[in-house]
Amino acid sequence: MSKKIRVRFAPSPTGGLHLGGVRTVLYNYLFAKKHCGDFIVRIEDTDQTRYVEGAEDYIFKCLEWCGLQPDESVLHGGAYAPYRQSERKDMYRQYAEQLVKDGHAYYAFDTPEEIEQMRELLKEKGSHNLQYDHNIRGNMNNSLRLLPEETQKLLDAGTPHVIRIKIEPDEFVHLSDMIRGDISFDTNIVDDKVLLKADGMPTYHLAVVVDDHLMKISHAFRGEEWLPSAPVHVLLWKHLFGLDAMPQWAHLPLILKPDGNGKLSKRDGDRLGFPVYAMDWTDPKTGDITKGFKEIGFLPEAFNNLLAVLGWNDGTEQEIFSLEDLIEKFSIEKVHKGGAKFDFEKAKWYNHEWIKKLPASHYADRVKIIFANKGIIITDDNYFNAVLELVKDRCTLLTDFYEQSAYFFESPGTLDVDAVKPKWSAQKSEFFSEYIIALRSLEVWDMANIEAAFKELAAAKNIKPGELQLPMRIMLVGGKFGPAVFSIAALIGKEETISRVQEALLLLNAD
Ligand code: GLU
Repeated sequence: MSKKIRVRFAPSPTGGLHLGGVRTVLYNYLFAKKHCGDFIVRIEDTDQTRYVEGAEDYIFKCLEWCGLQPDESVLHGGAYAPYRQSERKDMYRQYAEQLVKDGHAYYAFDTPEEIEQMRELLKEKGSHNLQYDHNIRGNMNNSLRLLPEETQKLLDAGTPHVIRIKIEPDEFVHLSDMIRGDISFDTNIVDDKVLLKADGMPTYHLAVVVDDHLMKISHAFRGEEWLPSAPVHVLLWKHLFGLDAMPQWAHLPLILKPDGNGKLSKRDGDRLGFPVYAMDWTDPKTGDITKGFKEIGFLPEAFNNLLAVLGWNDGTEQEIFSLEDLIEKFSIEKVHKGGAKFDFEKAKWYNHEWIKKLPASHYADRVKIIFANKGIIITDDNYFNAVLELVKDRCTLLTDFYEQSAYFFESPGTLDVDAVKPKWSAQKSEFFSEYIIALRSLEVWDMANIEAAFKELAAAKNIKPGELQLPMRIMLVGGKFGPAVFSIAALIGKEETISRVQEALLLLNAD
């Protein structure tokens, strides 16, 4: 019987959720759903110095917004709880002790000052390698150098200590990565990482391996930045649980800055004027807000879509994928090895496509909030949806709806008279005065009738309808934009249309 597919996203609650993090979630989620497996979110908070208040809550809110709900997590529960590593603290020591017993790890009593001294000494000797590793561990205050009785004495006395993995030099550690194929690591450049800290907390390295084992994780997908840690994890798997039990790894390519090389950072976003976090993140210490994709007006459908294709495609020309499509078509083996450059203009293109594709009612509630913040309270949902439908082709971000359609809810504050004035004439003024009368007598107020009356009168007066359409638009909208002018009149209604034309006539005929 093949193993049940179980994948995990294992964030450390240290701040805002970078779009690379959401893409990792997405790939995990898609893989789990495709294979009828479980998607687990495990909070890796063993490094209390990096812990940031509110970050965990925020991560779950982001996943909720993206519609990537975990099957098991701190919030959702599950058979392998607890899902927060700080609450699993007592589980890890036994594995670290086991490694010491088997000769794969050792107690190290060095104080931070002693380690610093060692580094200074190495620097003086001109060494560039300042790691705690096989080169220097023989000179340090640890159980490899001390006699067993001495070690025992220190332990009995409660001397603060850590447990470090003992990396054997001159070996190669192999890893078969689902994206990168076989990778081997030279142990000579791997340091003796701390596994258990002086406060009894495991480090990430020990906790990730123990928890992946205890939670029966079958596949572990994470960012490429974790590749240097992979040999330590493979060795821990080998020593603790056997390589056959190890999950299959995939290290996902980085999302790169649009200009130049290197990982896209929050700073790049600030510099180039786009968000890199999924949602607004408020720094609990400074109160500073970093903008998120959600708040600047992205749809989750578009966000998932654009993230999915940053580093993956299905080999066809298809660009627009729903979550269902992605579940069907995604395959981790097709994820690219190389990093993908982030392109904000392309990201907006995806949003525009999704705004057009989805019924406006799908996102109307969010747009309503944007309007409310601008002082327009929506009371008629049907009218609101009809307006959004009419203008959605013109909107790239949800926030664009305000500019594109505020005139449906209040008459335009200022009219772009300059666009009309140069070609304004008594004849045109007369046309609009008579058009008001024609509109008043329309029995059925719809686009076809409004347009027919317009064309009929224009023909009778021998004016090209094309010359009258711009003034009509300016009268109703205020500017040279918006959908078909008769569709606007149809929606805003007879009274409002007539009153806007009348007011504009007063203005245009003023001098
Ligand atoms: N806790 C790690 C992080 O902050 C997760 C690495 C992994 O998935 O193994 O990203």
